[in-house]
Amino acid sequence: MEKNYYSLKDFELSLKENAIERANDFQKYINQLNGFGCKSYWIASHTGIGATMNIEGYDKPVISFIANDYLGMSQREETIYAGIEALKKYGTGACAAQVIGGYLDIHKQLEEEIASFVGQEDAILFSSGFGANAGILRALLGKNDIALTDPFIHTSTLAGLHGTNIKRIGHNDLEYLEMVLKEVKDQYETKLVIIDGVYSQDGDLSALPGIIALCKKYDAMLMVDDAHGIGVMGANGRGTAEHFDCLGQIDIITGTFSKSFGCVGGFAAASKKLIQYLRFYADSNVFSAAPTPQVTASVLKALELIKTRPEIRQKLWDNTNYLRKELMERGFDIGKSVSPIFPIMVRDNKKVYQIAKMLQERGIFTIAIVYPAVRTKEARLRVSILSTHEKEHLDCLVSALEEINQTIPIKKQ
Ligand code: PMP
Repeated sequence: MEKNYYSLKDFELSLKENAIERANDFQKYINQLNGFGCKSYWIASHTGIGATMNIEGYDKPVISFIANDYLGMSQREETIYAGIEALKKYGTGACAAQVIGGYLDIHKQLEEEIASFVGQEDAILFSSGFGANAGILRALLGKNDIALTDPFIHTSTLAGLHGTNIKRIGHNDLEYLEMVLKEVKDQYETKLVIIDGVYSQDGDLSALPGIIALCKKYDAMLMVDDAHGIGVMGANGRGTAEHFDCLGQIDIITGTFSKSFGCVGGFAAASKKLIQYLRFYADSNVFSAAPTPQVTASVLKALELIKTRPEIRQKLWDNTNYLRKELMERGFDIGKSVSPIFPIMVRDNKKVYQIAKMLQERGIFTIAIVYPAVRTKEARLRVSILSTHEKEHLDCLVSALEEINQTIPIKKQ
């Protein structure tokens, strides 16, 4: 009988050394996923990725909760036309790394504007948030340094840590962090604490003020990946630092343009000196072509809208607060979420696929989040709320979950 791989982890334990054999074996895992009847991954959309989408296999639009385009910027006329104007002015690509001349005036403008928005002196752009995190860490940390990492930071950050020492700190555990900081104080050159502003799978916030205080006390640097915080958190959308009234107190802030800016790309913002160093040492910038003109202009427009149109962010928070109240009052387990990211905890791989399938049958598109994105015992659906969702979309989700709960219990027992 074929073995059941309910988790990708079970499958990985059975992996062969040879890449071709591994790829062949992987088909068994895919067959099993398909057996659950839920097509969850690599689904093509015939429309833009927004609050509703037309996806392959469905003749009607589905209500979608998969995108991180929190402010709906990817589908706005203003951002689209800004991109078109830049295409006409600069062409389709910069076609060189920025360091050797592929550096447009709009790149420079975006660096300046994003740096001041997040409360830092200067910034450097990357073609993705992944590249920003991985590239700057490869440049900053070596064998005499140490990264102290929250267990839930994003994979892109871990990708930059292969050449240095790593020690995990507890999630938002200040006592443990203090113990570790004391322990490593005189053993390493650079001590860099790395956290996210808003955690991408649980939607909870970092314990930022306490972490800043400890970093100061023990002479450690602090890096905050605020991919999910910028544009969303804080009275003016300036991110988790603004939310906690800590602007200007963080050494390095990284972010992405693929979420609340509705585009693609990333940045790191820090002191002038540090950014100057990264301009020559962050490999994913130095050895990679510059962000495209269209993307850069659309991001600039999105930033302008974030600054000048607070009602867009207000709608996001109205939606978020409404859904949180509805789900919590009905007894669904949304963990510690306080942001527009909602985990709906299922804690069972097979069930999470079944529920995703049943939601799809009801015209709702969510993603089953399983290992390796989260621990196997923490399988969940992830729902991202957008400012462009209407109340009816949120009500549809809630009533579909209620209905499914009759067959597969999802609510807290
Ligand atoms: N950091 C976090 C916390 C993220 O969630 C993501 C994207 N999922 C990234 C970094 C990478 O961003 P990008 O999509 O721009 O590569």
